[in-house]
Amino acid sequence: MAEKNIIVLPGDGIGPEVTAWGRKVLEEVASRFGHTFHFEEKLIGHAAIEATETPLPDDTLEACKKSDAILLGAVGHPMYDNDPSRKVRPEQGLLKIRKELGLYANIRPIIIFDELIHASSLKSELLRGADILFFRELTGGIYFGEPRYRSDDGQIAVDTLKYSKMEVARIARKAFEAAMTRNKRVHSVDKANVLESSRLWRETVNEVAQDFPEVELIHMFIDNAAMQLIRQPKQFDVVVTGNMFGDILTDEASQIAGSLGMLPSASVGDHTGIYEPIHGSAPDIAGQKLANPLATILSTALMLDISFGLKEESQSVIDAVDQILKEGWRTKDISSDETPADHVLDTDEIGNKVVQHIISPVEA
Ligand code: NAD
Repeated sequence: MAEKNIIVLPGDGIGPEVTAWGRKVLEEVASRFGHTFHFEEKLIGHAAIEATETPLPDDTLEACKKSDAILLGAVGHPMYDNDPSRKVRPEQGLLKIRKELGLYANIRPIIIFDELIHASSLKSELLRGADILFFRELTGGIYFGEPRYRSDDGQIAVDTLKYSKMEVARIARKAFEAAMTRNKRVHSVDKANVLESSRLWRETVNEVAQDFPEVELIHMFIDNAAMQLIRQPKQFDVVVTGNMFGDILTDEASQIAGSLGMLPSASVGDHTGIYEPIHGSAPDIAGQKLANPLATILSTALMLDISFGLKEESQSVIDAVDQILKEGWRTKDISSDETPADHVLDTDEIGNKVVQHIISPVEA
């Protein structure tokens, strides 16, 4: 029996609507499997700026550091998106918490549910059976490298792409470890024909690979990888890459699965991990019960597996989502012309369907 402390950071826009269902699912899992999960909600993002003038209050950070796992909704508000000159911004809270918790690995499974294959812009036969696990380096590379500046006359801007062997080795190791539990293939994505930092990346990944002789390692340039991902997604098992390449590639991959509302993610380091949907705060649909909570619910499955090692519990969440999709229930974003009107549900209705399946699972 496990006892865990979970911090919930609802954030902005649809964040509170979807994390409410992530929390409810975790409560039901705890009750079904006899665990005790304690929950505490804290502020981040625009909601935190409104209340405390900072996007990541100390109180939130301290509680997160002491917790066993964090469930995050999303941060962001149109007020900042429309005014790039604002100095205090919601996303600063996100970057700071990742850095403070040392969350160097962003893990994104691209899960393709058969029932939703129509939602992708790719042909069904290319997708059926595709199953990709991305490892994106999250705390280094060009998003953090110094120096970064604009010249005094404003005509030149500089960002720095920097990686150390230590930064590459630790994420490569996580990717190889994951590959050992899957199809034993790792694609490492870089631009080693042009960038010195990529040559260090490749050299280091090769060194880590020596500890995993059973895993096939394939190096691929980022431009080729972007093309191969939509040409033949089934060739990939585990993909490991740097911060900026990973940012772009994982968004591309999200479209393989069809909807942003379905994709979970985990950001982990050596201690507490953050689990969150890959989508943003979706201000266009906030407060209308139109948000799809399934990405957040699937993020709790990642939490149960990666942070708590509760594999059966994690699978019970994935099975519940799979089951409601098989029964034909949809939110608006994943519905199609063929979906009967009475099967298009709002956030709370679909969340409740998942919870019912966790309480009383359908026997396989
Ligand atoms: P978004 O992901 O919020 O929305 C993109 C589109 O997808 C919108 O039309 C939205 O309605 C739809 N959508 C997203 N999630 C959905 C869900 N669960 N169910 C149904 N439809 C969904 O991206 P955006 O519009 O580019 O950004 C909006 C705000 O979110 C911005 O302020 C941005 O900075 C922020 N953002 C935050 C994060 C994060 O917190 N990790 C990530 C991306 C964007």
